[in-house]
Amino acid sequence: AGIPMATLNDNLAKAERYLARFRDGVVANQIGGEAVPAADGATFEVISPVDLKTIATVARGGAADIDRAARAARAAFPEWAAMPGKERKKLLHKVADAIVARAEEIAFVECMDTGQAYRFMSKAALRGAENFRFYADRAPEARDGQALTTEGQFNYTTRVPLGPVGVITPWNTPFMLSTWKIAPALAAGCTVVHKPAELSPLTARLLVEIAEEAGLPKGVWNTVNGFGEDAGRALTEHPAIRAIAFVGESATGSAIMAQAAPTLKRVHFELGGKNPVIVFKDADLDRAAEAAVFMIYSLNGERCTSSSRLLVEADIHDAFTAKVAEKARAIKIGHPLDPDTVIGPLIHPDHQKKVMSYLELAREEGATVAVGGGAAEGPGGGCYVAPTLFTGARPDMRIAQEEIFGPVLTAIPFADEAEALEIANGVAYGLAGYVWTNDVSRAFRVSNALDAGMIWVNSENVRHLPSPFGGMKASGIGRDGGDYSFDFYMETKNIAFATAEHRIPKLGG
Ligand code: NAD
Repeated sequence: AGIPMATLNDNLAKAERYLARFRDGVVANQIGGEAVPAADGATFEVISPVDLKTIATVARGGAADIDRAARAARAAFPEWAAMPGKERKKLLHKVADAIVARAEEIAFVECMDTGQAYRFMSKAALRGAENFRFYADRAPEARDGQALTTEGQFNYTTRVPLGPVGVITPWNTPFMLSTWKIAPALAAGCTVVHKPAELSPLTARLLVEIAEEAGLPKGVWNTVNGFGEDAGRALTEHPAIRAIAFVGESATGSAIMAQAAPTLKRVHFELGGKNPVIVFKDADLDRAAEAAVFMIYSLNGERCTSSSRLLVEADIHDAFTAKVAEKARAIKIGHPLDPDTVIGPLIHPDHQKKVMSYLELAREEGATVAVGGGAAEGPGGGCYVAPTLFTGARPDMRIAQEEIFGPVLTAIPFADEAEALEIANGVAYGLAGYVWTNDVSRAFRVSNALDAGMIWVNSENVRHLPSPFGGMKASGIGRDGGDYSFDFYMETKNIAFATAEHRIPKLGG
């Protein structure tokens, strides 16, 4: 018989129980191991995109709160940095265990806060735990370096944690992304001040609480809620903060770079994308269509690595886009807690408006609206947008150039490999690329020539944690994953020993 699938009603009742604690008073910041309101008592309201009703009132931190948090992180740093890697490893595994124990609660809160469907969010908490385990296991070797010898000299390199760092995260899949940035920082021996996105801050509260309950020392991880222009800005400007790891829009990345310049902070940016999926006619077209549909319509299309441009060899453009259209039409829009839902409401009415403005624009620009193209009805009356496919677009159209960050796919025909590459690379972004062909030489040529930090051949985005994650051009600076994250959160030192009495240049005397 198996385990019966929970119904929407069961899930709504559970979500109500998990959200009750947030309705009760103000969601606090966490500074130096204490749950505290904002210094000036300010708060802001968080709405659920399902019905636009307030689900929480949150402490609105500003410069004073960031200052307190940065001081707490600085005070906690020496002891945390000096803790043997093996012990940090044990603690971070305990954090992972505690995340797993509360995976259902995290998933339900995330769904109601972001509008993301449960079918994806049910795995997001476990993936967050996996991020902690992955970096926990690497903590004991984080300081290791190289031995570099030459005549008369022996060099060894070692790495030391940078110090307190700032982590600023976006609203789309906040839990997973927060763990992705914070786990390696802690494993490296850094302490953290986290500024979650103001549109979906609730699971960040759960996360810091879970970590401290699991035994993380006070002040090692601090969370300050608030808006980008005050709490976010203050964090990027604070002199005690040595680096900023940021995930968000490209324009915000530029602003942060400027804000962080006077204090010479190291920055790591994971920014926007306009990622091409390039389909040649020799590819397995059924698999290519499944993957293209998955990469644009999963996570509401609010996904940095979404395949938002479908580049199709001209001969098969109509037949292939018809295949994609058929699947797109069959996608279920619904309540995020309905187990059958694929697309839930977008994060906020302002974002819905932005996405809708591109649907208007597509018509003005002369693209064909093959599927969707407007708002959709959904339970609760929230920010629903129909899965949309534009066909026959030109590469210079704004719908083919700008990141829409919704369930909107723009299909563009190409004549040959050279044109495919020209179109693929002809945007400001360079995050991910997907290539579909059964011709091995072409797969090599095309992936070699694509301006993208991550390329998948005959596959959707399947993440392998040791491999580098990040983008080129306006999509970012730096790489995460494997040892790449440690390189960002640590300083490399070289120590040179003279191994013989070499001649020292004599000046004077
Ligand atoms: P956003 O840039 O508007 O906000 C991200 C965070 O930055 C929020 O916490 C916000 O409060 C803060 N912020 C805003 N202005 C700031 C400032 N001046 N100083 C300091 N902090 C500031 O991004 P968003 O709308 O929350 O997220 C969507 C964007 O994130 C998309 O562009 C998407 O592609 C990108 N993203 C990228 C990746 C990646 O790995 N490349 C992953 C997920 C999302």
